[in-house]
Amino acid sequence: MQNHLRLLTPGPTAIPDRVRLAMAMPMIHHRKPEFKSIMEETRVYLKKLFGTEQEVLPLASSGTGAMTAAVTNLFARGEKVLVAQAGKFGERWGQIALSQGLEVVEIAKPWGQAIQADDIEEALKKDPTIKGVLIQICETSTGVMHPIYEIAKVTQKYNVLLVADGISSVGISPAPLDEWGIDALLTGSQKGLMVPAGLSLLALSEKAWKKAEQVEHSCFYFNLKAELKNVVKNQTNFSSPVSLIVGLREALTMIFEDGDLDSLYQKHYALAQMTRAGIKAMGLEPFAKTNYAWGLTSVAIPQGVSGSDLVSLAAKKTGVIIAAGQEPMKDEIIRLAHMGYVDFGDMLAGLYAVASSLPTKPQGFNESFMSIAMQAYETAQNYPKTAITQ
Ligand SMILES: *Cc1c(COP(=O)(O)O)cnc(C)c1O
Repeated sequence: MQNHLRLLTPGPTAIPDRVRLAMAMPMIHHRKPEFKSIMEETRVYLKKLFGTEQEVLPLASSGTGAMTAAVTNLFARGEKVLVAQAGKFGERWGQIALSQGLEVVEIAKPWGQAIQADDIEEALKKDPTIKGVLIQICETSTGVMHPIYEIAKVTQKYNVLLVADGISSVGISPAPLDEWGIDALLTGSQKGLMVPAGLSLLALSEKAWKKAEQVEHSCFYFNLKAELKNVVKNQTNFSSPVSLIVGLREALTMIFEDGDLDSLYQKHYALAQMTRAGIKAMGLEPFAKTNYAWGLTSVAIPQGVSGSDLVSLAAKKTGVIIAAGQEPMKDEIIRLAHMGYVDFGDMLAGLYAVASSLPTKPQGFNESFMSIAMQAYETAQNYPKTAITQ
């Protein structure tokens, strides 16, 4: 008998049975009342999830589609944006901005480090022609979170829009759009939201909507003004990804019936503490020293160990699917995700999978890494409301 498969990758993540079954319902038409009532319910949940009074627009695309939509609708060709670059997804912001004909100023840090609010402020002071800051909340390629709460305090003082890619943080760690002063917040369905890939979600602040009014949008498919007109009628501009929206409604129902966002964030924070403690107890080093993510733990691979071998051995031996690093970190780190539908049992399996796939036990390996991890889970403090992990 094969082991039970556990998907501990930073997207896609496991789909709860309830969500899978909900999506198995017969197809309904996206312009008819039954669908509209599902959308209406979903919209209410989404506003709570994003912490906003604004509409959250569902788009039929993977997360990168929402990134593209934000850039093409908020910035006119030739405008200048500041891109926070400390990993693969920061790089992607730069590529999207360049493809839209924007001028890109990069603020770069080595992979594994966070871009600080002071870095952003310095760049904005130096160049008042910058119109936007494009950043990740969690840089999934390194497992680091940029301090968005503090960065938003800075961007609000300048004539810029703060565009935050929350693909690996929405539903995992807090970033309420209205309260923090974020101008665009987006995510995808296959990470914290426990739904298959193919649906992205995007919300804009009032300030961002005003800007979108002025920008002559260049992309026929991602037309946010047209999406807004539709969403208030519980519709989407083109054919709706009906099954994914049905799945999302079920996932959001699960989130909000289990308690509230507080308990969701607390769980992911505790899972991050747990995973870090377990990794340290087996003599390994978490790659992110500070500002570590709540949705995944990146682990530095000891010298002489191949990350891809470790990951494939773990899959074969234990059924736990772990992510390797992305280029250029391919053989530097592995990534153990704890986002979406996971609990302490999955993380114990994940820790066991790593420990049992190491070719030799590292120095400092502690046989009781599992109980040390559980202890960290039990004693995790209240999560920091600013989502800044020291
Ligand atoms: C996964 C991820 C993406 C890419 O999302 P797709 O759905 O693959 O387009 C972008 N940014 C971050 C932070 C991610 O974690």
